[in-house]
Amino acid sequence: KTMTTAEIREDFLRFFEAKGCKLYPSSSLVPDDPSLLLTNAGMNQFKEYYQGKKTMPEIGACSCQKCLRTNDIDNIGDATHLSFFEMLGNFSFGGYSKADAIAWAYEFITGPDHLGLPPERLYMTVFEDDDEAIELWHEQGVPYDHISRLGEKDNFWAAGPTGPCGPCSEIYFDQGEEFGCGGEHCGPGCDDCDRYLEFWNLVFTQYDRQEDGSLPELPHRNIDTGMGLERIAAIMQHKSTNYDGDLLQGLIGVGERLSGHTYGTDAARDRSLRIVADHARAVTFMIGDGILPGNEGRGYVLRRLLRRAVYHGRLMGIEGAFLGAYVEKICELMGDNYPAVVESRSLIDGIVAAEEERFGATLDSGEELLAAELDKLDEGATLPGDVAFKLHDTYGFPIDLTREICEAAGRDVDMDAFDACMTEQRERARASANRDAWGTFNDVWTALSDRLAATEFRGYDEDECPARV
Ligand code: ATP
Ligand code: MG
Ligand code: MG
Ligand code: MG
Repeated sequence: KTMTTAEIREDFLRFFEAKGCKLYPSSSLVPDDPSLLLTNAGMNQFKEYYQGKKTMPEIGACSCQKCLRTNDIDNIGDATHLSFFEMLGNFSFGGYSKADAIAWAYEFITGPDHLGLPPERLYMTVFEDDDEAIELWHEQGVPYDHISRLGEKDNFWAAGPTGPCGPCSEIYFDQGEEFGCGGEHCGPGCDDCDRYLEFWNLVFTQYDRQEDGSLPELPHRNIDTGMGLERIAAIMQHKSTNYDGDLLQGLIGVGERLSGHTYGTDAARDRSLRIVADHARAVTFMIGDGILPGNEGRGYVLRRLLRRAVYHGRLMGIEGAFLGAYVEKICELMGDNYPAVVESRSLIDGIVAAEEERFGATLDSGEELLAAELDKLDEGATLPGDVAFKLHDTYGFPIDLTREICEAAGRDVDMDAFDACMTEQRERARASANRDAWGTFNDVWTALSDRLAATEFRGYDEDECPARV
């Protein structure tokens, strides 16, 4: 059986509506919650229902939520992690029970009228001592050897450092032995391979973590589930990565057309095609929700994503501004479900184009400087690490591009020396950074500083003052 992204989204929401859950529209990527930088899960907009501050007359809710996760930045481009993604979810705030949630999840994924996934390829995990969940899955017909226990890292879920949280149970799809690492302990939750693909998380939200780390019980037992739409779409389309599903393929296609590269022919180009497809979507939806590029908080996340997209465009050989072509395609592919993006399209185009122009100029001057440095080198010499670092640190010129250009000129870069400079700089930054909250600005900064220059905003000074060389 195959289903499109649109069919899965529809079917999920109708299924849970029929169970009595009220359909809520996606909330904004800007959360109504000061403890959270960006919306990272379907449950965010329901926080006060979990806490008992609000009550819902219905037995629960369901939604398809726009999400943005900065903690996954390092993994963007792999098979399963996107920065922006859609999360299908069903929720209960003291309404329907854990038993219902498990029974309905199983009905939805295996039922012939719904996903119809083959039970022998499904694996469930539960939190350490959650025997109740094991029995509930078993009652659905899941054999015990398809149910395993995992610890806090995988099976205790929280949106952030404080707020509603609890033990969870996850559903994995076995993609087949050929995806396995062959390790002795390979199974759901394996860190070494993608054989078992996590696609749905059922959280039994029962605690409300406080600032001091304590875990008082919430006033009632709750349910919070999240299923990655891009992941389940890939599964339903017999594809092994998010990017091979119908929706993201459309964006990969834009990159292929602009760069002249065919997806699947070169690992590095493929990664750039994936990163640009992902980041372009994140940027489009962030601006659509009113975030503007800036030097801190959300605006900074947006600017970093935008610039990373631009330089990956260059890595693929795209010349000139190009993100507008992605924005157009995103409106075409997703406008039916997110009409606000189409309405803000001219604003998005304008902001994206302005950032592309500025950062493009930074890249141009970096390329000139690098060419001059290469000219100075003796035959066979490598580019010194401190030169690469200065390009990165002072001129905002990404190390990936430095390496790429050096390679084309038949030169190596002294990466050991470069890494040493980076480590030193990161330690300095860390010492002065105020690491206030998990998943916030500083984490993003650290994650991205490996690829984008820490001080690239000096590029603006260059526009205003004569270049300092
Ligand atoms: P992973 O272990 O793969 O990083 P997770 O455990 O962090 O995922 P959850 O917080 O449990 O993910 O989110 C619920 C569901 O949302 C996941 O099961 C997955 O289907 C989807 N999801 C989570 N993160 C991403 C992402 N970065 N890109 C795409 N889908 C995601
Ligand atoms: Mg994760
Ligand atoms: Mg996980
Ligand atoms: Mg999970």
